[in-house]
Amino acid sequence: MENIASDERPKACNVLCIEVSCGTRDCDAPIRIHTVVALGTESLLSEARRLVSLSTTDQIGCGSLHFLKGSLREAEVLGAYFDTENWELAYL
Ligand SMILES: [Zn+2]
Repeated sequence: MENIASDERPKACNVLCIEVSCGTRDCDAPIRIHTVVALGTESLLSEARRLVSLSTTDQIGCGSLHFLKGSLREAEVLGAYFDTENWELAYL
């Protein structure tokens, strides 16, 4: 069956910024993770928690140089919002 439209376009997406606690008590410098998600995501916070819980990191640090390494399953998500900076998204 051939049903591939020649002008098929990628789904609209946007850059989601997720703020994660570095895990150090009283540190107010969250780690910011940027990722691309499809628009229409209903709850940014629950989507952010889902994505983070599935993620691992080699070494990412907050602004105060506290580092997370390994699984982010236990990481505390502090917030999530669409980053409206003018990102250039490349579709291959
Ligand atoms: Zn920190």
